[in-house]
Amino acid sequence: MIDKSIFDFVKKGVGIPVNTPGGKDIGIYMCAGPTNRLVGEEEGSNNIIKLNYTGAPGTASALYYALVFMMNGEGWNIAKVDEWIEVSPVMQEYYQITVSQKKALEGQIKEGIASAAASLADYELLMHDIRKYGQVLKYFVDKDEQSLKSMFIDQVDIHTDLPNYPASLRTMVSRWPTIIADFHKLEEKDDKSKDIAKKLSISEAEALILSTKNKLYKDWKEQIKQTATERYKTLKGLTTSKEKTIEEYRTWLKPYITRYKMTKLGGESPGGRSEILKSFADISGTATYSNQIQVWAWKKLVPEEIRKAPLEKGDNKFIIDPYDSWTRDNLILGKNGLASIYPWLKNKRMYCSECKEYYENEIEKCEKCKRRLIEKTVADQIVDKEIKPAWEKKEMSLNPSELYYTFMIFDVFRAGSRLPVGQIEDITFNITTYAISQNILLVKLLELKCRDAEFEKYIDEILGVRSGEQNIEALVKTDFPALFEKEKKPKNELEAFKDELYKVIDDISGKVKGIEVPKTDKIMFAKPGPYETDFADRISKFYLRPAGKEFGAVKEFLKSKMGVG
Ligand SMILES: [Zn+2]
Repeated sequence: MIDKSIFDFVKKGVGIPVNTPGGKDIGIYMCAGPTNRLVGEEEGSNNIIKLNYTGAPGTASALYYALVFMMNGEGWNIAKVDEWIEVSPVMQEYYQITVSQKKALEGQIKEGIASAAASLADYELLMHDIRKYGQVLKYFVDKDEQSLKSMFIDQVDIHTDLPNYPASLRTMVSRWPTIIADFHKLEEKDDKSKDIAKKLSISEAEALILSTKNKLYKDWKEQIKQTATERYKTLKGLTTSKEKTIEEYRTWLKPYITRYKMTKLGGESPGGRSEILKSFADISGTATYSNQIQVWAWKKLVPEEIRKAPLEKGDNKFIIDPYDSWTRDNLILGKNGLASIYPWLKNKRMYCSECKEYYENEIEKCEKCKRRLIEKTVADQIVDKEIKPAWEKKEMSLNPSELYYTFMIFDVFRAGSRLPVGQIEDITFNITTYAISQNILLVKLLELKCRDAEFEKYIDEILGVRSGEQNIEALVKTDFPALFEKEKKPKNELEAFKDELYKVIDDISGKVKGIEVPKTDKIMFAKPGPYETDFADRISKFYLRPAGKEFGAVKEFLKSKMGVG
């Protein structure tokens, strides 16, 4: 549904390199299985197969659903990763129907967007005001007296001029050229004109004006602080309800947009997909449509030797953190990592190691504990805040006390054809199976999150939600806690010392966290990692064999349904 390639299991290059016997990565992670997914028709192989079925319209799709339901019941987690439908212009009649269906979808989407647009416009106005009042509040938080004074001079005091009666500081400049600079020099306690005259060495007349202006300024400051705080609170409430409305439109439109996006008219799609359609057309001569789906399925993989004495099931804590530094630096953020497809994974985020909170890039100190924040990435945030918590809750067939998983990839090609004798439906399952360690599964889970995020972004673009929204949101979230505190404590030497101390601790704990894996060839001599290291014996015997059995069960199920088993 999105125009991004899959971060595949590969021999080399972008993707997850499949282990080879004697490979340097063995032990750091396990990813055992075929390196070339779409070629094999090796009947004898226990991890790759291509199964084809042709039948009456509807029978092939029924096979697909039967498979998904069966696997769901067997403890697999099933995720549809990608889907495309492509319609060939060869069959004019069918093609025209699809074109009109797509037009109708377009109409429904546009109608939805028009209604959403009104809400969006309101929302943006509110956001503009929020930003305005937010800025004022920020002056107070920062004790930025000069900016407040400038605001007073330009937006309040300027309106005190009457015809033929210059009363504002701006117009008085012609009489006292330094009056604005002098006004900026005043402190809150400066209220007596005599003292001001002495302090600034200016005339009594100017000092009198300044003392009056300073009093007005103080009154205004109190007032504006109160108004801005109240307006800010009210506006925040309003934006929350607007956000809800927009969210509702979003939810409502999503299935339409999904359908719209994944339906391609012949010739619309780049390279690969139309090639596949052509190859089907070659077989039957008159393919009307093709539908391609990629599905991932995973399930815990218990090594065969352990089956007799099951692992002690502890609490929901990871035996080994699946997010180790090697996986992060190589498979996710590295040159050939996931971030080469989704560059925004590398975007900076700030992190408080005490409160385990993530903040926007610009923020320097934790809002709760005032600790100095350390630099992390969007990838870290998604893993820490979304993937690992779901894992610990044992969602999606995940389990923190399991280290290995069977991972299956189904590339499903379905095509409809019209033959002289009538309609037929043809379906091909390309199935590949891998035995993987949990850190590899984590990368695939992150990829799923990335694909979701890209699609959400696409919907936002269609809805016209402007980018840059992020910063406003951050402003709202920040909420100016300091403003409602009594007094901001001045930073003293002890605090500065603490900052330094935290920095050192963060640096150290950052290094010991996760698994340290040497990046050089020394890897041959060091203990490489926490996962299985003996490929020839243990990995093939204890892991690939049970994974192969799972694969066999799926294969036999499909064959029996196809009537060839
Ligand atoms: Zn904190």
